[in-house]
Amino acid sequence: MLILYWVVKAMSVQEVTFFVVNLLDTEGRGVFRCPRCGAEISPDDMTESVYRILDVIMKKDRLDTIVLECIRCGSRIQLIGLDLLNYT
Ligand SMILES: [Zn+2]
Repeated sequence: MLILYWVVKAMSVQEVTFFVVNLLDTEGRGVFRCPRCGAEISPDDMTESVYRILDVIMKKDRLDTIVLECIRCGSRIQLIGLDLLNYT
C-alpha cells in the first residue's frame, strides 16, 4: 500500500501529459497534430521550433518508438507505428 501511495503521488505531481500517436492512423508521410494543442508535427521539420526529439528506440535495426516533446504545450508524444517510415 505504501508503494502504491508513492506511485500515485508521483503521477499527480508530474505535470507532463503523455500521448501515444500511431503513425499508421495518420494520413501518411508521418505528419500529425499534437493531440493537446494541435501544432502540426512533421518529420520534415528539423528546426525544433515546434517539437524536439527526446528519445529514439530501435528494435532490431528498425525504428520502434520515437519520443517527442511538443515545444508549444510541453506534451510528450510517443510515436508508434513507425513501420510506415521504415518502408519509405
Ligand atoms: Zn502540443
